[in-house]
This record gives sequence, structure tokens and C-alpha cells, in this order.
Amino acid sequence: MYRLVCVGCGTRYPPDEVIYNCTVCGHLLAVEYDLDSITIERQAWERRPLSVWRYRELLPVSIPPVTLQEGGTPLYHLTRIGEEIGLPNLYAKHEGMNPTGSFKDRGMTVGVSMALQLKKTSVACASTGNTSASLAAYAARAGIPAVVLLPAGKVALGKVAQALMHGARVLSIRGNFDRALEMVHELCLSHGLYLLNSVNPFRLEGQKTIGFEVLDQLGKSPDRMVLPVGNAGNISAVYKGFVELAHLGVLDGMPMMTGIQAAGSAPVVRAIQQGLAEVEPEPRPETVATAIRIGAPVNAEKALAAIRKTGGCAEAVTDDEILAMQRDLAQKEGIGVEPASAASVAGVKKLVETGVIDRNETIVCVVTGHLLKDPETVIRQCKAPLEIDADLPSLLSALQSCS
Ligand SMILES: *Cc1c(COP(=O)(O)O)cnc(C)c1O
Ligand SMILES: [Zn+2]
Repeated sequence: MYRLVCVGCGTRYPPDEVIYNCTVCGHLLAVEYDLDSITIERQAWERRPLSVWRYRELLPVSIPPVTLQEGGTPLYHLTRIGEEIGLPNLYAKHEGMNPTGSFKDRGMTVGVSMALQLKKTSVACASTGNTSASLAAYAARAGIPAVVLLPAGKVALGKVAQALMHGARVLSIRGNFDRALEMVHELCLSHGLYLLNSVNPFRLEGQKTIGFEVLDQLGKSPDRMVLPVGNAGNISAVYKGFVELAHLGVLDGMPMMTGIQAAGSAPVVRAIQQGLAEVEPEPRPETVATAIRIGAPVNAEKALAAIRKTGGCAEAVTDDEILAMQRDLAQKEGIGVEPASAASVAGVKKLVETGVIDRNETIVCVVTGHLLKDPETVIRQCKAPLEIDADLPSLLSALQSCS
């Protein structure tokens, strides 16, 4: 049993009402369960495969879900980077290993399932890329049409390719992500499409399972969870999941929620560092990490609370720091991620250097999307392969000259 509750004023709405903002105060809604009536048996969970649906008692879906087997992503110990930074217990949760290559799949398996449960026949989103790729795939799986709005010229190639190939109606807006979200929100309210941006409370329910899996994989709570922050939905979702487990008595410690943004797009970092009650939107967000190129994060209110209530913090990293860490993850650990994902680990490096992070902490960085999402940014950083004649002497001399 659950209901929708306004995060601003606490007004309650029935679970089957299709609503994204409180009609009293305009704030976002969250899913609230009757936690006192839920008993979690961790042994029962452990008998199920590691995946979003392992945790179905804490998810709102009651029909057979629309699934591509999302979740169950690897947790890697970063031994070389950890040693360089001076953190022996540094881990990366590789969300790029989801079906469409980002954590958005966790949200969409729940969100698109809820669309069907609520008898909706079409879905829509605005996207910096990954949300559209994921929605397109899950809508195809569900057999319903999807409309996606992208900021023209600012979406990584792999993500557009996915949205197109999975058959979504793809439209490029001459404007940024924040404008695309306003437009799709209006479209959904006026034309009855089901909105699956992170203003949708059900999508975040799926994403909170990142934290649940980390607990199961580590066998304990990490001291700190570090996430790249764009719309701030994911960090809010992971925190919400931890709060629920704490309420159920199965959390052994609340991790410090830590948000990392790109320097050119860092309204949450500014709000945390300057102690502001609300974020001041960044009118012209700019960064190579297009997945977090968002100036007006819709879940900022939830994220500020998550960071503040857990004694966490927020930090900004430059594009150079992001790309250097993308290369380090790829070349020193064998982990291929897109730029936004590298921001979390780059942020940890910076927070160690500035003395904010204690070297004994156990830290899990969520790396959010796969390397192949943004091949153009990869190719730009790498030397082109040397072209040689097709004979062994040419091969040997080439190998000698480049070693
Ligand atoms: C969506 C996304 C983010 C940002 O997540 P928010 O919930 O918007 O804060 C970060 N990295 C990648 C790869 C993403 O796709
Ligand atoms: Zn309200």
C-alpha cells in the first residue's frame, strides 16, 4: 500500500491519480509506503537475482512489470585509482551495464510499468539523452508509442541512435534541456501522454534500488555515496531508499550523500556551499558532460535535503578534471564510462585533496552511463589509429616507433 505525498506541504493523493505536482503548492510528489505494514526478509531478497525487482516489496508495481532485466550491475573495487588518491576502499557501481547503458533503465522499468498499470497508452519525456534512449526501449518493450524532446545539437551520438532505433518519435528543440522539459510537461498535461521525466515519482522508485544493491554487494552501508547530479533525481532517489530501509530497521548506517556537478552547471553545489534555502538556476549551463548539463534541477529541493540530512556535501569539477578521470577509469581500471559518470570519481579525488573526505571511508561512486554513449568525446581525446601497409615489416616498425 502506498500513496503520493507532496514534498512541500504534505498533501496526500491517491496512488492511482496521474499527477506530477501538488495542486496546493506546486511542489513535487513522492511515493510513501505504509512501512509499518511491510516486513522485509533479507534472506528472501537474497534468494532472488540481484536486480531492480529483487526489491519489489518496496516498489509500487502490482502488474507483471515491463522489464529488460535491469539492475544487477557490477560493483568494482577501484584499486589503482584508489591507491593514487589514497583511498583503499573506493568502489564504482557501474550503471552503464544496464540494458540501454545507463541507470535510467531502473527508473523506466518501474515508470513504464506504472504507465500500463495506470492505463496510459503513450509516454513522453524531455532528455539530455539517456532518458530518451531508455524510454524508447521500454516503450517498445511495452508496445506503446513514445515521444522524446531533445535539446538540438547537445545530445551524445549513441543516445540519439538508441532513441531513433527503438522507434520513439524524436524531436530536437531549438532550446536547452530545461526548456524541453517545460514543453513536454505542458504537452503531457494537455494531451494525456504519461510523463516519465524525474518529476515522475514512480521513476525514482526504480532508481533507489541502486542503493539497495550496493548494500547487498558490500554487505554493509558505505560511509559515503557519491553521485553526479543533473536534475538531482538520482541522488534523491537513492537517499529515499536508504531512509525506507532505516525505517524498516535493516540499514546499519546512513551514508553521507555527496553530489558532484560540472563547474559550468553547478546550481546545487552553489546552494550547498553558500547555505542557500533553494537553488538559483544557472541560465546557461555548459559542460562536456551533457548528461548533467542542466541549469534548473527539478529535484533540487529533495537533493538539498538528502545532502544536508546525511552530513554529505557537494563539489564542482571542471571539464578537464572530468575527462582526465574518464581516461583514468578506462586506462587504469578497465571501466568505460561517459563523461558525466566520471564526474563522481573526479569529485572524490578533489574532496580528498581538499581534506573533506577521510581516507578511511568506504566510498561508492555511482558511474552512471556507458563509454559508448558518447563516442565523439572519446575519439576527440584519443590519437587516431596509425594506418600501415599490410605486411609484417611495416607492423614491426610501427610498433617500434610508437613504443
Ligand atoms: C541522467 C544522468 C545523470 C544525472 O542524473 P539526475 O538524476 O538527473 O541527477 C548523470 N549521469 C548520467 C549518465 C545520466 O544519464
Ligand atoms: Zn504541496
